[in-house]
Amino acid sequence: MRVLLLILIIPVILLNCGSSRPAVDEGAGPIHAMPNDNQEKAAKNIILMIGDGMGLTQITAGIYDNNNFLNFEKFPVTGLMKTHSYDNLVTDSAAGGTAMACGVKTYNNGVGVNKDGIAVKSILEEAEEKGMGTGIVVTSAVVNATPATFMAHQKLRAFVEPIAEEIANSGVDFLVGGGKKYFDRRDSDERNLIEEMKAKGYQIENFIQHKTIEEVRTDSVKKFVYFTADDDPLTKITGRNYLPYASQMGANFLKSRSENGFFMMIEGSQIDLGGHATNFKYVMSELRDFDEAIKNVLEFAEADGETLVIVTADHETGGLTIQEGSKLKKIKADFAYGRHSGTMVPVFAYGPGSEKFTGIFDNTELYRKMKAALAL
Ligand SMILES: [Zn+2]
Repeated sequence: MRVLLLILIIPVILLNCGSSRPAVDEGAGPIHAMPNDNQEKAAKNIILMIGDGMGLTQITAGIYDNNNFLNFEKFPVTGLMKTHSYDNLVTDSAAGGTAMACGVKTYNNGVGVNKDGIAVKSILEEAEEKGMGTGIVVTSAVVNATPATFMAHQKLRAFVEPIAEEIANSGVDFLVGGGKKYFDRRDSDERNLIEEMKAKGYQIENFIQHKTIEEVRTDSVKKFVYFTADDDPLTKITGRNYLPYASQMGANFLKSRSENGFFMMIEGSQIDLGGHATNFKYVMSELRDFDEAIKNVLEFAEADGETLVIVTADHETGGLTIQEGSKLKKIKADFAYGRHSGTMVPVFAYGPGSEKFTGIFDNTELYRKMKAALAL
């Protein structure tokens, strides 16, 4: 009986091996890394793009889900980054953001402070001191942990109204994201930070006055804010569409107004939320949106020639896996759980100074590498 079974099974196995088709047609992915010119020059501008919760599997799945291509593949330089925080191998976005923004390890929940809770200057603040333009574009509320680490210093990320106050005083030149209510309908005081910012010369627009940011004209102003939501912006699936446009707009806005260059941080904030929800479609739609922003930023940088573009993540979220049986555009994905994981995250770089971002390095080194690239 056993012999008979083997005789029946072996040809099936052999047949399957012999007739198996390639998972991906050869040449299906137009993978062409951009040439890496100007490597030896210092960068005039940096655009740092953070995919919150975006691990290597999110990007891999995104590439296969998009018929084997994403703009990530255009980067000539790649590296890997360790993400652990001061007190935990698995970081949160506050400690992860602080490491990249300020170059120090801190405890989970700490925003722009060191392990002892003491404020540490961020690269955005240092760039500003050198007379550079500064910008933040996110798909979360602007008081959320990642953007906050570049503009604020608080012992806890939950202190969102004090964070809004710090943002209002930060001097940031171009700011796009949600969280309007933390500025004009505050629980902790009666202040209207939007009016205070207008008095300092800001043009401040929002999603109620202008349904899309594309309607807004900014011809003469030096400082600009567009609030995309009262609190957290919509998901991409439910209609949010500003990230790619606002990324490009921010780069052009800052370039035309700052002779000394600029530093801008762009965050695909909700890749993380998709992971927390263990919702693969959510993750993929947010990743694709982020990839569209990458496309626009790379076009800007290629034309500009003086801009270093870095794409990375603060941590992975969800422990995502691509499972057997997956096909192009039909990924079978599963999550280990709806929380952050401790795996290293990829780093992609293009432009002057990009060669520094290879190998394995710590997330605090990202800060030092960016400063070295700007010769700050
Ligand atoms: Zn998260």
